[in-house]
Amino acid sequence: MNVTDRLRSALASLAERDSLRTIRPRPKGVISLAGNDYLGAGADTALREAFFESPLSRFGLASGSSALLFGESEAHEGLREVLRRLYGRESLLFPSGWQLNTGFIAALAAAFGKDVFFLADRLVHASMIDGLLAAKRHGAGFLRFPHNDCSALERLLERVAPEHEIVVILTESVFSMDGDRADLAKFVALKKRWKNVLLALDDAHGLGISGANGRGPAEEAGVEDDVDFRILTFGKAAASSGAALLTDPDWLSLVTNYARPLIFTTAESPLQAAWTSFVLSQIPNWSDRRARLRALEAKVLETLGSDALAHGTPILPWILGDNARTLAAAKRLEESGFLVSAVRPPTVPEGTSRLRISLASSLTDDEIDAFCLALTRLKTEFAL
Ligand SMILES: *Cc1c(COP(=O)(O)O)cnc(C)c1O
Repeated sequence: MNVTDRLRSALASLAERDSLRTIRPRPKGVISLAGNDYLGAGADTALREAFFESPLSRFGLASGSSALLFGESEAHEGLREVLRRLYGRESLLFPSGWQLNTGFIAALAAAFGKDVFFLADRLVHASMIDGLLAAKRHGAGFLRFPHNDCSALERLLERVAPEHEIVVILTESVFSMDGDRADLAKFVALKKRWKNVLLALDDAHGLGISGANGRGPAEEAGVEDDVDFRILTFGKAAASSGAALLTDPDWLSLVTNYARPLIFTTAESPLQAAWTSFVLSQIPNWSDRRARLRALEAKVLETLGSDALAHGTPILPWILGDNARTLAAAKRLEESGFLVSAVRPPTVPEGTSRLRISLASSLTDDEIDAFCLALTRLKTEFAL
């Protein structure tokens, strides 16, 4: 087969499985339940105006170089200061959560080789999986435990903790495709039984959504000090981009020295860091937005008629099973004026294709009522 035919057949085989993905700009005039702007900060034009009237908007767009080659400036320092104030910890900034997760996991492996071992929840984000695959090249091993299964994790720990100098558990506060949470109190109690077991928590979807100060499920569970590596990403509720690793200074120093996705990339834009600081500073004040999310969640759950999805998070997966059905349902919703993502393998396991309904506190009563009506019609049409 020549190159062109080979390429076309690869694309055709994706299309046959209803797995061909395309990028298209967000259509105008539809209401989005497909984003991660949980607190409506991205849609908040008054907030944006307030930022551009504040001294924080004086920063430039270009960082100019890698963080290790003076790419950071006063804006990045400012963001770390906000994080210190809100979280009481030191941090290392990355241009994205993807780079943080792949870089941080591989960095530990580059430093410790086979002496470090990772135990990851089966459903952790692809960026952690890619970090684990990179870690393998450095001789570090890993195993995945069944989703949220602390007893399975316990059995694995009993085996691997005595055999390795360092063991790192990888999980998420809120799982991005299922909207459920890790039982953080249980994970913390478990890891505390071994001095050499550390807990890394990806807080990408937890940031902002719950807790008295909006620090998410870890704040709610009162376990923040027991999380050894806290991963914040700013592309979701913080309506920005970039990410921060929160841990002790010696660990930060180690990651700074070994994380290739940090060393060999341009530092994020100073203006972006300033905007992140601005939004993060508001998040503690947004209890009303968090309460609004809970109310919207209750409404959609009632419509779907499923309490199994009640997790106190803005992510509601409606599992339809096969790809074609999921795509058809998403298309029908879009025709009714609502954008919902159809999530298919390999993002989720085979046979669990779903509509990922993602709530934002900025949805109005009229909008959510209309959406619930569209869901009800869809249930009838698809005999669900
Ligand atoms: C979005 C996401 C990431 C990646 O963050 P980006 O900043 O978008 O690269 C990492 N982990 C989880 C759980 C995520 O949902």
